[in-house]
Amino acid sequence: STALIWFRRDLRLADNPALCAALEQAERVVPVYIHARDEEGDWAPGEASRWWLHHSLKQLGHDLAALGAPLVMRCGPSLDTLQELLRETGASQVYWNRLYEPDTVRRDTHIKQALQAQGVQVRSFNAALLLEPWVVQNRSGEPYRVFTPYWKACQAQGALDVSLQPRPGPGVLTAEGSRSDPLESLGLLPLIPWDAGLAKAWTPGEEGAHTALEAFLDRALADYGEARNLPDRLGTSHLSPHLHFGEISPRQVVHACQRAVAEGRHSGADASVKGFLGEIGWREFGHHLLFHFPHTPLQPLDARFEDFPWPPRDDDALRAWQRGRTGLPIVDAGMRELWATGWMHNRVRMITASLLTKNLLIHWREGARWFWDTLVDADLASNTLGWQWTAGCGADAAPYFRVFNPVLQGERFDPGGGYVRHWVPELKALPDKYLHKPWQAPESVLRGAGVRLGRDYPQPIVDLAASRRQALAAWETLRQSA
Ligand code: FAD
Repeated sequence: STALIWFRRDLRLADNPALCAALEQAERVVPVYIHARDEEGDWAPGEASRWWLHHSLKQLGHDLAALGAPLVMRCGPSLDTLQELLRETGASQVYWNRLYEPDTVRRDTHIKQALQAQGVQVRSFNAALLLEPWVVQNRSGEPYRVFTPYWKACQAQGALDVSLQPRPGPGVLTAEGSRSDPLESLGLLPLIPWDAGLAKAWTPGEEGAHTALEAFLDRALADYGEARNLPDRLGTSHLSPHLHFGEISPRQVVHACQRAVAEGRHSGADASVKGFLGEIGWREFGHHLLFHFPHTPLQPLDARFEDFPWPPRDDDALRAWQRGRTGLPIVDAGMRELWATGWMHNRVRMITASLLTKNLLIHWREGARWFWDTLVDADLASNTLGWQWTAGCGADAAPYFRVFNPVLQGERFDPGGGYVRHWVPELKALPDKYLHKPWQAPESVLRGAGVRLGRDYPQPIVDLAASRRQALAAWETLRQSA
């Protein structure tokens, strides 16, 4: 018999349950990728994600061809394309790994029902999470809204169980051939070639994912607890886009960490390992929340915030934020890092998001949208979680009155100024004392550093103290009307 394996965001061969099951059940396989942008509703991949997808598909196609089963690429709609392929190849089974966003859940449910109705055997699997969103619930049978008890419950249910071994990839595949559209015809690459910075920063694909993981285990896991908050250090794993596209599974990541610990590569670094695994837990938590509260990409989880008095959008301020021209160095460094590499350090994501939502009083949805288009790791679950957390309207969120001060944050987490100097080179020669607040530097210091504020680098576009007061007043109005 012949089986279609429908690849989506599981772009890997190892530890891929749909692929394993298809190989166990069928003599021949047809690996398929279907490009159907409009099936993901408002959340079709943004520009940076499409760049990643192009390169990841290229790598997967290469790896599959080497095993004897070239990847068949087609443009959607998905159901019609699967039906076409079933006819063309004589396949009677379809296998895929599950996705959890509201639009993809709806689509996949419909496709499963339609194919089953015509007698096709359809099976789906979990390849993306340690535990699927419906597996864990609190004592009242409801989804969790607070991370710590959620993650405790996950661990009690075996999320970090070492006995569940990731499965190796297949050695050889027997394929049923079929016509494929060329990868280029999917139109994933940008029309204006702005992607040189992405190509320099990343190696999409399964092999790139494992190289990043091993580099992290060797270089940074032991210090993760300390270094993960310092944006000018390579203190985190940079696995987020690889995990998003399923080039590596969270189970493989957990196993590799535990193996590194067992081999004594990280003796005495228990807190760091626990902290890192906790971040994998936050990724799970984001999926749990999105699945159970599917309205949250557009609406706050905390319903009190539905009536937050957002002022009319200030387009100039939004543009200055997007372009890294706010006059607040750590914010501008982050936004430029994002533009150049498609990624931003987590600490700086929180600082830039706090400035947008609390000091500039621009709706968190505007920020989430910009991140969606510019991040290579744009992920509906984690992005929604991150924005609502920072804006104070999500699950387990930072309390609304916690407004990050970008000067203090910069001085604390980029004390040597390496991060700001790298991304905001016009401030390079400023002494550390003024690097995070150039507007306070005496004229002679600015002149000595070759900085003309308002010309080489902007004056701050917002008064931090006054805007903080304004945000707190808006919050107070909301609280009183609730
Ligand atoms: P590491 O510190 O090495 O962590 C390992 C893995 O754990 C990450 O690869 C990621 O998969 C997961 N993880 C880590 N931190 C978080 C977190 N806070 N929430 C959920 N998962 C986490 N992450 C995304 O993957 N996609 C997004 O679209 C996204 N948008 C965000 C928006 C905002 C406003 C904020 C504050 C955070 C956002 N994050 C997002 C979470 C986090 O910033 C990134 O996952 C992290 O910076 C990725 O770098 P890393 O792989 O080196 O992380």
